[in-house]
Amino acid sequence: MLKGIAASSGVTIAKAYKYETPAIEIVKKEADPEVEINKFDLAVADSKHDIETIKEKATGRLSDEELAIFDAHLMVVEDPAFGDEVKNMITNDKINAEFAVETVANMYITMFESLDDEYMKARAADIRDVTTRIKYHLVGIKPADLSLIDSECIIVAHDLTPSDTAQLDKQFVKGFATEIGGRTSHSAIMARSLEIPAVVGTKGIMETVKNGDMIVLDALKGNVIINPDDETIAKYREKEAKYLAEVVALKAYKDMETISVDGHKITLAANIGTPDDVEGALANGAEAVGLYRTEFLYMNSQALPTEEEQFVAYKKVLEAMKEHSVVVRTLDIGGDKKLPYLPIDPEMNPFLGYRAIRLCLDRKDIFRTQLRALLRASVYGHLCIMFPMIATLDEFNAAKAMVFEEKEKLVAEGIAVADDIQIGLMIEIPAAAVLADQFAKVADFFSIGTNDLIQYSMAADRMSEKVSYLYQPFNPSLLRLIKMTIDGAHKEGKWVGMCGEMAGEPDAISVLMGLGLDEFSMSATSILRARKIANSLSHAEMKELAAKAVECSTSSEVLDLIHSTVK
Ligand code: PEP
Ligand code: MG
Repeated sequence: MLKGIAASSGVTIAKAYKYETPAIEIVKKEADPEVEINKFDLAVADSKHDIETIKEKATGRLSDEELAIFDAHLMVVEDPAFGDEVKNMITNDKINAEFAVETVANMYITMFESLDDEYMKARAADIRDVTTRIKYHLVGIKPADLSLIDSECIIVAHDLTPSDTAQLDKQFVKGFATEIGGRTSHSAIMARSLEIPAVVGTKGIMETVKNGDMIVLDALKGNVIINPDDETIAKYREKEAKYLAEVVALKAYKDMETISVDGHKITLAANIGTPDDVEGALANGAEAVGLYRTEFLYMNSQALPTEEEQFVAYKKVLEAMKEHSVVVRTLDIGGDKKLPYLPIDPEMNPFLGYRAIRLCLDRKDIFRTQLRALLRASVYGHLCIMFPMIATLDEFNAAKAMVFEEKEKLVAEGIAVADDIQIGLMIEIPAAAVLADQFAKVADFFSIGTNDLIQYSMAADRMSEKVSYLYQPFNPSLLRLIKMTIDGAHKEGKWVGMCGEMAGEPDAISVLMGLGLDEFSMSATSILRARKIANSLSHAEMKELAAKAVECSTSSEVLDLIHSTVK
């Protein structure tokens, strides 16, 4: 058995189809620049044609977001700067086209990969995907065509590029396992979209598995079992059937309201990163957007996004969510999120440094542009503006004042702005949680960001594997901070959401409902399960459970209490 990362849930059993992309040996050769430039132009045109054909075939099978990956590829293949650099190298060094392509591509790939940012790393994958295609055309290699697979299999590969994944026919391809990749790599995103099980980052799989080996892919646990015995196969067939039955059963919760057995209503919302995520959120029964992380808009762009670009994105989300509320978080950059075009001086502790609202209150030009875009979009839906990383009332009041200043300016310009915009803050710094009763006098709502609240209250860097044992959502100290936050808000008649990962954890729903949390915001695929759990609980009993939980002394005591109360 090999262990990887569960990237797209499910269990499946089938024969392995090993997908090996031919390695190309490229050596530098002296060549006639004119001939090589012609060869390069032809290879680019052929590659462009390939990408357009793949996109066309995938239309209807993939969501707009996945199809957009091919637009990104077309941009790479048509990029004049890339083309010019390759041609200059061919001309100046009088060398073969494939060597020039490889050299220029590697330079870009290294540059993007060196950035400490998941999104930029994905861009490196796009460049690798496109330039490999160009090189194949240049040297006349045709890799195996995945769209021709016509019998049931599990694909085993070093990695699958978006173009590979787009060609998979779900009827035959039951799942895949790759050697590299993480939960946010493109292959993982595509697998979730196609709803086929996938395990990525399975070290050693290409060496261990032979073509035709029987494979159990347990993408619930991230396990790949090679050549299992009959007993193991029977056990996993049962697990597969149980999983499929559960998925079907959960669909019944899509249009239901979220209400406890004794009539206490809560809202289940989705966390989104781009406007395209709204489709999946609604398909999974989201009742609101509880966190729109706008930093992706800044990270996906070559320069600061303009007011107009931002307006278009915010309007799209608000319109799609109709009467449901949308919490848009203002720019949360810094810490582990960087913008290549906005250099920040290196700091000893970036998570404790110049980030989020601290940066926005300093770079008012950036902040005001975002606020104007948000205010202009506000008339298209139900907007809640949320500031990240607030530590003091002064920060909150300063940010809120800027919203009103920009609103006044827009109204003076004759531009309509909604009157029912709510302005709130993330509770992710312990100081704000402790002072929640004071914040509640000036804010319309709170959203608890447990990812950061835990890192700051435990003083444990969320990026460090060595101290990850301190990520303890069930530690009574954290539950007390959550209780303070909710009690402080409710005293002033304000509502509280949670948008950190804890909100979607099945074990946490009981105790959070008992503490009085109003909105639970999570990744879209966690919503239906959360609704099933919430709708089976009694609010009165959960209040008792929560009262006991905050009196416990350790995280494991709290978990034992939850497991013995909620069956
Ligand atoms: C959080 O800190 O819990 C949160 C939701 O924000 P992020 O994970 O983007 O820091
Ligand atoms: Mg945070």
